[in-house]
Amino acid sequence: MVLISCKNCHKVYKKENYDEFICTRCNHLVSKRIKNSLQVSLALTLSAILLYIPAMLYPMMEITTFGVNQESTIIEGVIGFLEYESYFIAFVIFTASVIIPLIKLIGLLLIFVSLRINTKMSNKTKIAIFKFIEAIGKWSMIDIYVVAILASVIQMDEIFNIKGGIAATSFALVVILTIIAAHRFDTRIIWDESRE
Ligand SMILES: [Zn+2]
Repeated sequence: MVLISCKNCHKVYKKENYDEFICTRCNHLVSKRIKNSLQVSLALTLSAILLYIPAMLYPMMEITTFGVNQESTIIEGVIGFLEYESYFIAFVIFTASVIIPLIKLIGLLLIFVSLRINTKMSNKTKIAIFKFIEAIGKWSMIDIYVVAILASVIQMDEIFNIKGGIAATSFALVVILTIIAAHRFDTRIIWDESRE
């Protein structure tokens, strides 16, 4: 006799074995572990890390000073705001678009790699990191909102423009892939002991 819960609606079933079945409450496929969960989440995380590079290196904003257009990357934009002494805007953009995505990616990578190689990190630490990432995940779209709101507010001053392009597309993909990687990951894998 085994107990198994639906990962979607958390209904608990008493079954003879771990064979897959369909949840009677939410029609979700219930299985002992989601197949290839670690591999898929790791692949998504690595893709997001690669996309983070063009998001940072290609121009994201267009700053117009006295009618002269100047393209700039996120970092150059932050420096620009510092030069205008707009410290708060510089801080918000830097945190939302540079720091938060990076923390999420490094956190996920840390958990996934620790499941592949032997580390001294305890399972409770891994779960804590994951819970933290999920918690800030709720705020992950803040990056996009901040950029969108700033763009509409500041465009009135005609000094600052958000440019759609490689950087914007890459950045959106980083945010989306990170959410899917975290959401799709089966945390129960952390507690499996037969892993090497
Ligand atoms: Zn269910």
